[in-house]
Amino acid sequence: MNPPRPTDAARARARMVERLRSQGIRDEKVLAAMAFIPRHQFVEKGLAFSAYDDSALPIGLQQTISQPFVVARMIELLRDGRELGKTLEIGAGCGYQAAVLSRVASEVYAVERLKLLLDRARENLRPLRLPNLRLKCGDGTLGLPEAAPFDTIIVAAGGSSVPPALKEQLAPGGKLLIPVGNDVDQRLLLIERQGNVFKEIWHDAVRFVPLLTGTE
Ligand code: SAH
Repeated sequence: MNPPRPTDAARARARMVERLRSQGIRDEKVLAAMAFIPRHQFVEKGLAFSAYDDSALPIGLQQTISQPFVVARMIELLRDGRELGKTLEIGAGCGYQAAVLSRVASEVYAVERLKLLLDRARENLRPLRLPNLRLKCGDGTLGLPEAAPFDTIIVAAGGSSVPPALKEQLAPGGKLLIPVGNDVDQRLLLIERQGNVFKEIWHDAVRFVPLLTGTE
């Protein structure tokens, strides 16, 4: 099957944004970014017709592109009336969320541990020419010391605890959002740094692929 034509894709994207509104996403800047980024260009060609459904889809190497609602919800939680500033994404995968973030944040660094997936992300992102987005291969549990501190850190893979390096690399007033839990109960944990105090708030139940260590 051929991928959707650009006009069909734009229509599907507009429908996706309306659905996100009906699901409670209110942040216009996030909705505009999701209306702009062509999600179908980040999934395998055979799945392009499903790209705007509210589902996670396979992107190869046993990883998934997060469902649109979760992408929108996470960015909305992190913004909450402020600018995202310098942003670190852990788990770039196919690059979709990094692309959305680049429309909302001043600077984005996206780290992925799987080299093959990162190559795909680079290919997916090239035609979009997003000048404020940089991709790095690395173990995101270590953060990205050479570019720290960050105003925002968003983690797209779930672990049993919060890697200490990520808290350390938060700027004062910075926010970190990470799925934490186990196989049966995983939730988004929002951490806000106030000096050396870290305020924690638990949010939605989610299901992310595991946050692993090392690179492959
Ligand atoms: N943000 C992606 C979602 C990718 S799924 C999107 O827009 O669709 C999560 C990704 O996290 C996977 O590609 C996985 O390889 C990666 N990942 C898991 N542990 C990691 C780690 N320690 N460092 C960097 N990436 C990691």
